[in-house]
Formats: sequence, C-alpha cells, structure tokens
Amino acid sequence: MSSLRFNAIDKASEHRAVAIDLPKERPDQYYGRYVFNREKMQQYLPEPTYNALIDAIDNKKPLSREIADSIADGMKRWAIDNGARHYTHWFHPLTDGTAEKHDSFIEHGPTGGSITEEFSGKLLVQQEPDASSFPNGGIRNTFEARGYSAWDISSPAFILDKTLCIPTIFISYTGESLDYKTPLLRALNSVDKAATEVARYFDPEVNRVYSYLGWEQEYFLVDEALYSARPDLVMTGRTLMGHESAKNQQLEDHYFGAIPSRVEAFMLDLETECHKLGIPAKTRHNEVAPNQFELAPIFEETNLANDHNLLLMSLMHEVARRHNFRVLLHEKPFAGVNGSGKHNNWSLGTDKGVLLFAPGKTAKDNLQFITFIVNVMAAVHRHNGLLKASIASATNSHRLGANEAPPAIISIFLGSYLRGIIEHLEENEADAILNLSGKKGMRLNVDQIPEILVDNTDRNRTSPFAFTGNRFEFRAVGSSANCASAMIALNAAVADQLTDFKSKVDARLAKGEELEHALLSEIRTLIKQSKAIHFDGNGYSDEWKEEAARRGLDCEISAPRMFDAYLRPSSVEMFGRTGVLSEVELRARNEVKWEVYTKKVQIEARVLGDMALNHVIPVAVRYRDVLTDNALKLRSLFPGKKGEELTAPDLETIECISAHMAKINEQVEEMVEARKKANRIDDEREKAIAYHDTVVPPMEVIRYHIDKLEGMVDDRMWPLPKYRELLFIR
Ligand code: ADP
Ligand code: MG
Repeated sequence: MSSLRFNAIDKASEHRAVAIDLPKERPDQYYGRYVFNREKMQQYLPEPTYNALIDAIDNKKPLSREIADSIADGMKRWAIDNGARHYTHWFHPLTDGTAEKHDSFIEHGPTGGSITEEFSGKLLVQQEPDASSFPNGGIRNTFEARGYSAWDISSPAFILDKTLCIPTIFISYTGESLDYKTPLLRALNSVDKAATEVARYFDPEVNRVYSYLGWEQEYFLVDEALYSARPDLVMTGRTLMGHESAKNQQLEDHYFGAIPSRVEAFMLDLETECHKLGIPAKTRHNEVAPNQFELAPIFEETNLANDHNLLLMSLMHEVARRHNFRVLLHEKPFAGVNGSGKHNNWSLGTDKGVLLFAPGKTAKDNLQFITFIVNVMAAVHRHNGLLKASIASATNSHRLGANEAPPAIISIFLGSYLRGIIEHLEENEADAILNLSGKKGMRLNVDQIPEILVDNTDRNRTSPFAFTGNRFEFRAVGSSANCASAMIALNAAVADQLTDFKSKVDARLAKGEELEHALLSEIRTLIKQSKAIHFDGNGYSDEWKEEAARRGLDCEISAPRMFDAYLRPSSVEMFGRTGVLSEVELRARNEVKWEVYTKKVQIEARVLGDMALNHVIPVAVRYRDVLTDNALKLRSLFPGKKGEELTAPDLETIECISAHMAKINEQVEEMVEARKKANRIDDEREKAIAYHDTVVPPMEVIRYHIDKLEGMVDDRMWPLPKYRELLFIR
C-alpha cells in the first residue's frame, strides 16, 4: 500500500478554511497603504520636490540630482514609518517573474561603531546589480558583467515584506535592454506619439494617448499535501502523467458555481493584500475546470497594470501557502481539462478621456473609432506571426491549439455589427459614403453609425483576438507569462501602423483633399489589404486551419519556430522604426527564448524519466507479481483440464501490464537518447527545435502508457495522487 499518497489525502481532507486577519476598516481606508502614491508624495515631499516629480511623471520632464535626493529622503521616511528595513530595485529580467536584491538602509554613523539609516537620490535612481546571473542572450561580454537598473518613475514604489521596492528598468553596460520593462516603456512611448498625432485629426487638443491593460489571471489551486506528493508539480508546475478522472468538467458545474470556503478565504486574503498594494482587484470567480479560478482587476495604464500583474503572481504564491494551497500558474497543469490563460484586455485612450476603440455619438467620433479599429486590424494582420511569437512559450504551447483555448493562428473577431460597418466601407467609395443624397451604399452613412453597446453579447470564445465593445481582448496570452511580451509587440506594431497611416493621410491633405475623404480613402485601402485577418467563425474547426493557410496567415505550431517571426525583416524594421528593440536586442532575446524553451522541456523530460523508472515501473512490477502469485496459487489449487488452468482475463492483465512496462522502458531510453543528441547541438535555435521534434514525442508516448497502467494497478498501491484527488479535494 502506498502510504505517501494516502497520508497526503488524509492531510488534505483535514485542511479547513483558514481564518484571516482582515483590516477593521473598509477597503477605501487601506487601499494603497503600502504604495508611495501621490497622496504620500504630497505628505512626505517638500512642495517644489513634489511639483517637479509630478511634472516628470505627467510630462516626461527630467529630474535634477537635487530633486532626486529630496525624493529619496521623503521616500525613505515614508518607508521607515511603515516598518521597512530594506530597499531594492525591483526589475523584470528575461526569466519568469521578478528580481530583487535587498540592501538595508544602514550606513556608518558619524561616530565609530554607530549607524544611521540613509537613502540617497543616487541609490534611488540607479544601481548596478551583477548582470551575469540573468539571461542576456550573449549581449553582455564576459569581461563586462555590469548591468544597470534605473528607476521607472511612472510606476510608484511600494513596500512588500518590509522592503521598499523601486520599480526599475534593467539594461546592459552598453545600453541594451535586459528586461521586459525597457522595451515596454519604449513601445508605450511610441504608441503615445503615433496615436496622439492621429487623434489630433479629430481633436487638436489631444496631448497624450495612454495604452490601457486589464488582464484576467486564471489559475489552479491544489492542496499543499497532495502537491508535495507529486514531483512533477513541484518541479515543472504541471502533471506529466495522470489518468483522466471519471468526472472532470463535463457537468459544467464549476464555472461561476459557489466558491468553496477554503478558496474563498484565500481569495479574500489575496484581494486584501492586493488592495493594500494598490492593485485594484475587482472580479473573482470559478473557472471552467475543477479547482480553476480567476482574478481580474480594474484596468490601468499598461505599464502599471503589468507591474501589478507581476506583483500579483508573487503574492498569489505567498498567500496560497498561508491557506495550505499551492497555486499553479502553468498554462496546462492537467490534461483533459481546460488550461489557464491571461486575457489581455487592451485599449487606447486620450488625455481628454476618450476611448479610441469605443464608438461615439457623432459622425466625427465614429470616424475616429473606425480609424483606430482599422489601423489595429492592419497592424495585427501585418504582424500576426510576430504577435503569435509574443505569446509563444514551452508552457503555453500545451494550451494553444487545443480545443479549449485560442487556436495557434492569430485572427480578429469583430462581431456582426462592426463587421457590417467594415463591409460597407469596403464596398463603397469614399465619395458615396460621404454623399448623403441617396447613392448606392447609403444605408450606413458615417453619420449614422450608432453607438454599439459596450456589452455586446456577440461574443466568440474561440478567437485569439476579439473586439469586445470598447477594447480588444488578446486571449492567447498564457497564464504564467509576463504580459509585457504581448504588449510590446502589439503597441509597437500599432504605433508603426498609425505613423504610416498618418503620413499617407497627410500626403492626401497636402494635395488639397478634404480630411474625411482622405481618411475614408486610406481606411478603405487598409480594409482591403488586411481583411484576411478578420474571422468571426469557429476558430477550433479544421476548416479554419485550411482557410487560414489559404489566406496566408501564420500557421506555425511549434514554439521554437514561431520565435523566428521576431527576426523577419518586417519585424526587425518595425521595431527599428519605432525604436522599441534594436536588431541586436531582438537576436539576444531570441537566444534567451530558445534557451528557456530547451531548458523547460529538458527538466520535464528528466522528471518524467525519473518518475517512470522510480515510481511507476516498480509499482507495476509489484502488482504484476501479486497477479502472477495469485495465478500460480489458483493453478495449484484448481489444476483443471489442460489449457484451462487459468481464467483468461488474469493472463491478459499480466501480459498487458508487461507490454505497457516494456513500452515505457523503451520510450524512456529513446527520450534519453534524443536528449543526449540534442544537447550536443551548439546553436540554440537548432537545439530547441531538436527538443521540440525529438524529445517531446516520446514523452507523450510514455505518458500514454503510464496513464494506462494507472487505470489497471490496484488503487491502494498507486503512489501518486490521482487527478480526482488533485482536482476535487479542496
Ligand atoms: P470577461 O467577461 O471577459 O471575463 P472580466 O470582467 O473578467 O471580463 O474582465 C474584463 C477586464 O477588462 C477587466 O480587467 C476590465 O477592467 C478590463 N477592461 C474593461 N474595459 C477596458 C478597456 N477599455 N481597456 C482595457 N481593459 C478594459
Ligand atoms: Mg473574466
């Protein structure tokens, strides 16, 4: 009997909802308590310092050294008043998650043996963490290990675990970005500039365009005791084996169902922590799969929203442990039930409060709305392969393309209403649209584009990129991903497209064309050029795969080959023109992507080999022994007639177990060989492709045979918590 598994089940069944330490006040009282927000700035900074900082944040004005010293001093006093002992530059290296190196505030005091607590503008603004321990894709020469982290004033400092965290960018000595935040800020800058210029056709007073992001974080919770008994969950974040449970999500009784009490306590605890850190967590619910849940905040400016998502992911791990849970952010922790994504709701809005993807009340509003929608279509069309590469990873490839997640082809869903408008614009000349006096195509005059309800019910869950009333929802993003990757590609591509559009419209204006006419003519051209990206049908169907290939959309399904899209001339040029990433940076980042892909598969393959040989095979041998013993005893007790000594099913079971074991042994050997061969390849791209093409396939075969054995072996002997336990005990 397997005591490990049954002890874990016993322990898990005893876990009850944990009482949480809720603040006495209402959320508005403690919201942002641990954030150095404008209110705290006003309180802790001298007035000229405060004004200079606000000017720097709002109008991108530079900060002087004196001002930086004064800010650092105020920030330190606030941090110490709130119990902080250390400070850290908090950055997003090219790995999963965030990085921090803590220093305490202490310095030598004026007299020997004494200390004071200090924090200067120099330490606030810039630091030099050792870059050699972070992925850099070969950018950093070995003799120059220095990397710089520099303060991102657009995201406020916060206190986490008694440490003052200062959001920073991370760049190499030679100025190349080594993180996600640097290119994200560049992309946001570039979309701000490009979109502002286009928005000025409609409102000359517009000074700035913000990019907004509202992510929806999906995740699984698993009881800690059961989790610890599964080496695959501990080491890789997903189950590498596991027979489907008799019940999974077929009753559809989990989605939006009552939240289990232990989970509810976890959620409330998590939300309270979020609110103290200024993360506007708002929505929570059960997701489709058992033990799967979602948290969504109110949307925010993209850079801040992304910082908040990264912060949330680390909070989730911490808070889950207080509730005897482990949180799984992997895109596909369990076969046979839904995986987890992180829908990125994305929009652009002006400093005048106008959402540019939202239809308005007047003809002018609606022409603006159409202008921006069509430019997004054109950008997504031109860069559909790049956008797919931006969300591709070893972990997300288990989710994409399966029949419950967006397909591995990027297309845009518009919905019937917007589709009607787009088709009308495509079919009619600008003159006809502008002319009110009853020519062909008049039924949809620009003046008459009515307001589309924001909550239009025309929703299509199979689309990777859907228009949802006043925003686009990029659904292909993976649950464990840093949203910045998708947001860099999307905002940069749209910025580049808008710049191109502006120059074409300006050329028409220079020739004396009316503005509406010039806009409509360019819009028509874009619609014709990019209509291949528009697809409102069922993205899961096989017909769509064929159709998409005919339309010339990127249909690559292997992650390491998807990354090639970053190095296509169209991408390199686009990133160059927008100043978001240089070719050197793009090449380095791809090296990192391939390397990470290889390492993830490599770890999984090792864990699977180990579990197959050390957990599964020994148990199968023991069970086969039991059956064989039993068969022999039966034969000696009931000799019977020749040829009828045993009942046939027993023999069949024994043979079947032996066959599965033989297959497992054979495939583990093949997998190990494939790995050895792949490891000899120097080129990172080729190596990742070898892992994809030769290491992953035997892994799938091994799993198949292990799952069959799980279905045959005596339940009391099986050593690993089963799907029904992992997914239903809570
Ligand atoms: P769904 O029905 O798609 O699951 P949710 O309510 O879970 O919707 O999440 C929607 C997300 O979209 C929220 O984070 C919300 O704040 C965000 N959102 C709403 N409007 C916008 C917008 N204009 N731009 C960006 N995000 C938005
Ligand atoms: Mg949702």
